[in-house]
Amino acid sequence: MDELRIGATTIALEPGDITRVHAEAIVNAANAHLAGGGGVDGAIHRAGGPSIMEECRRIGACKTGGAVLTGAGNLPSRYVIHAVAPRYAGRPRDGELLRSAYGTALDVACKLGLRTIAFPSLGTGAYGYPIDEAADIALSTARGHALGETTLERITFVLFSERDLAAFRAALGRASVHKG
Ligand code: ADP
Repeated sequence: MDELRIGATTIALEPGDITRVHAEAIVNAANAHLAGGGGVDGAIHRAGGPSIMEECRRIGACKTGGAVLTGAGNLPSRYVIHAVAPRYAGRPRDGELLRSAYGTALDVACKLGLRTIAFPSLGTGAYGYPIDEAADIALSTARGHALGETTLERITFVLFSERDLAAFRAALGRASVHKG
């Protein structure tokens, strides 16, 4: 089963396209200029329509490791949380920044009182973060968040490729072993 229960929160993995997911918030793998791009960012703006980019332009920018909130346009979710992963260069700081991008997005959702959030695999496409390491960071950050006080009942990772899903499954196994 692709789930891990931590207190009242379930961390779940599912294959698919995040633009079709019905979560209160979906997370975008944005860039620091909030300028749109390829990958999941392009897919979210295409499916969500122009209002998301209009809001991004008004916000202007987001630091690497941070996250900002917009509405979700035509998407089935209510909000898009745009999180900025680092461009991977093998520095120890890259791990901190990826952890921070996940953690800030979770905090934004929790401050809004949301119960459900869905993430793509941040940083592992154009930004080049190695997927196995990134999956460990994603799941340990979600687990750490769930161990604290949170409104989130379900944190879903939506994996677009077989390779991403396999890497997150292996990481979920490691996170389960370290449970407790
Ligand atoms: P980054 O620039 O942060 O690396 P990318 O969008 O290039 O972001 O890639 C991040 C991950 O998102 C990749 O693993 C890619 O397979 C995945 N991805 C691409 N399109 C979608 C989608 N529609 N839904 C979910 N994940 C997606």
